[in-house]
Amino acid sequence: MIVGVPRETAPGERRVALVPELVPKLTKEGLDVLVEAGAGEGAGFPDASYVDKGARLGSAVLESADVVLKVQPPATEEVERLQEGSTLVGLLRPYDNAATIKALAARGVTAFSMELMPRITRAQSMDVLSAMSTVAGYKAVLIAASRLPKFFPLLMTAAGNMAPARVFIIGAGVAGLQAIGTAKRLGAVVEAYDTRPAVKEQVESLGARFAELAVETKDAEDKGGYAKAQSEEFYRKQQEMMSRYVAAADVVIPTALVPGQRAPILITEAMVQAMRPGSVIVDLAAEQGGNCALTEPGQEVVRHGVLIIGATNVPSTMPQHASEMYARTVTSFFAHLLKEGKLHLDLEDELTRGPLVTHQGDVVHEAVKARL
Ligand code: NAD
Repeated sequence: MIVGVPRETAPGERRVALVPELVPKLTKEGLDVLVEAGAGEGAGFPDASYVDKGARLGSAVLESADVVLKVQPPATEEVERLQEGSTLVGLLRPYDNAATIKALAARGVTAFSMELMPRITRAQSMDVLSAMSTVAGYKAVLIAASRLPKFFPLLMTAAGNMAPARVFIIGAGVAGLQAIGTAKRLGAVVEAYDTRPAVKEQVESLGARFAELAVETKDAEDKGGYAKAQSEEFYRKQQEMMSRYVAAADVVIPTALVPGQRAPILITEAMVQAMRPGSVIVDLAAEQGGNCALTEPGQEVVRHGVLIIGATNVPSTMPQHASEMYARTVTSFFAHLLKEGKLHLDLEDELTRGPLVTHQGDVVHEAVKARL
């Protein structure tokens, strides 16, 4: 069985789906690993490093592979190059990528979307969302620190004392907690808020202060640990209660998401207006529309003197470690699908069934099908 790793073609994408270190994990299973020349270049993995680990270099990877490991969803033109009946594993963005999903079904491709992996203990090593959120949370703080016209730590120097930066993190899930830890390590004074009350302890254990807002969350969390959407009235109150935290902050990093929905607007224009000029917002919810009303996804804008960065595909800006983490989750999942070197799909198993989007000519994921 040929496992193909193509070079990513999406603009700005520097990650690769397989890193050299993990090639032996596949060749040991008797698999033939075919890597497109230059596939790892953007992430710092030269072609020779794959060959050293037992992979073959080549072209026409999509056309020849039985299984394709990718990062970004394939372009429609790339779907047509996949072998009929082949298998694809990647981040397929199934909810806003109808044309690709339909094309994959029509081509008879068995497509797994890593974002749909159930977040259960058994699947922890396959949890690509946590892996990529870890990168994004860390990097968002570095982006903010490099753009803020101030130091992060308290400095006492002969040229004067500099107060530490104040950082406010909204949403303390995987990305938010990583951002808190990183901002603390840089010496900032950090506050954070999340609608899930269970998070308070985690925020405090990282040395940050949990913002106690006088607004009660109802039914904050679903059984998977994700936030549930709140009422319009709740969001209005939340904005009001958060205003003073946002105004006092030098840096705001909103990461608040509700699965399957547009990100809630938590920072209004008036709240931006009340911030000090030179302050920075790095909106990690930009791909889902943004938590700040003034965010322009993929763009940097200055509004009322505040720099608002609509950060998209942040993991790709740290491609080496992001690829290593991504590749570990993908190979761990792929290993789960193998039995004696062959694909063995047990559709009764939630780890196999959960991320399965298209199979034998149909869209088989109920929620994705409903969205189409
Ligand atoms: P996410 O990216 O969907 O959301 C980010 C954060 O935004 C969440 O913490 C959410 O509560 C918060 N949020 C939503 N609306 C908000 C609002 N109005 N104001 C403030 N915050 C708001 O979530 P995530 O980081 O991917 O994961 C969230 C949680 O899922 C984790 O903290 C954990 O409990 C659970 N999880 C479980 C596993 C597992 O293997 N069991 C793995 C990963 C995550």
